[in-house]
Amino acid sequence: MKILVINAGSSSLKYQLMDPETEEVFAKGLCERIGIDGRLTHKIPASDAKYEFDIAMPTHAEAIQAVLDALTSSAHGVIKSMDEIDAVGHRVVHGGEAFAHSVVIDNTVMAALEACIPLAPLHNPANITGIRACQQVMPGKPMVGVFDTAFHQSMPPRAFIYAIPYEYYTENHVRRYGFHGTSHYYVSHRAAAMLGRPIEELKIVTCHLGNGSSVCAIDGGKSIETSMGFTPLDGLPMGTRCGAIDVSIIEYLMTTHDLSIEEVMDILNKKSGVLGVSGVSSDFRDIEAAAEKGNKRAQLAIDMFCYKTTKRIASASAAMGGIDAVVFTAGVGENSAELRAKIVENLAFMGIKIDPAKNNVRGVETDISTADATVHTLLIPTNEELVIAQDTARLVAGK
Ligand code: ADP
Repeated sequence: MKILVINAGSSSLKYQLMDPETEEVFAKGLCERIGIDGRLTHKIPASDAKYEFDIAMPTHAEAIQAVLDALTSSAHGVIKSMDEIDAVGHRVVHGGEAFAHSVVIDNTVMAALEACIPLAPLHNPANITGIRACQQVMPGKPMVGVFDTAFHQSMPPRAFIYAIPYEYYTENHVRRYGFHGTSHYYVSHRAAAMLGRPIEELKIVTCHLGNGSSVCAIDGGKSIETSMGFTPLDGLPMGTRCGAIDVSIIEYLMTTHDLSIEEVMDILNKKSGVLGVSGVSSDFRDIEAAAEKGNKRAQLAIDMFCYKTTKRIASASAAMGGIDAVVFTAGVGENSAELRAKIVENLAFMGIKIDPAKNNVRGVETDISTADATVHTLLIPTNEELVIAQDTARLVAGK
């Protein structure tokens, strides 16, 4: 079986063609600068080949067509025709309260996705555009939507309700939704497999630390608490996002700097986080390099990020009344041994201890805890595309 996984952003579109059973990735790539000019990077993992093309992409439809052309090309393709693609799985950022699971896309689902736009004005329109473009270029092909928010729909009301007038929840849907759900789901299941125990018996804290970051408490396989909120701005400080702050700061900045609400929100989304504190970069590699050279603000950004992540792991454990395993994943979690070590430094009192030699790895599935640790610390590369492909295959098979 071959499933095409699509992750459409406003001006970019990532794709993977894979077999959800063998997990083989036949081809993957990225369309960039959609609506500007258009660039396609196409990779074939089996041969390590990489191709780059400038292709006009005025809209997402041309981008999808370029992907299909690349996949079926006699020179660098991996399939003979589009007919070999069994179905398409789409990543959708926000499913609101309408979607607690992945779903086969039909007109009713499209209407529900449109209704979620006010909740994710930056993300959902791009996802919807990607779906429509696929429907246009591949009419009749089964399509499935997989939501970043779905996994967190199991959170109890005490975790998702904000302490503001209740009507804002019932009338305006203001509540904690949580994101990165596909990643938290995937790594928690891999963790159970690595530990050789049923997920129903485990309390796991998963730390997705990348450009965007979130921590999730997973009790018996269900998300019961997570750090991102109504939007992906909440929780941990991130590359450019502020994470949780005192909301009064917004009014204070508007008044003291004569800024509009849009300007302040832009600062909190795009100029804050470790970029804002370090003044160096949003990329942790640059920040770690600057800190090593003695840049104090870069060091402060790292210290702040690790400190707040430490606190989130402890509070996620408290939400479950215990912890069996903590999992690190995504760009920073998978790659930075230094940050992992710093994050767990103060958690020895909870039985979380890592072995420096075992921690000195990147991008592999491994247990990095010491022999006397009572909590397993696991490093697990995430694979959201695989979950999307597997959900898509299952749903189109009617299961
Ligand atoms: P996204 O949220 O965009 O999917 P990723 O999960 O790819 O992000 O993570 C990107 C982040 O991972 C960047 O901030 C990058 O600095 C960080 N990262 C990647 N490799 C390393 C590394 N070797 N050391 C530290 N940070 C790294």
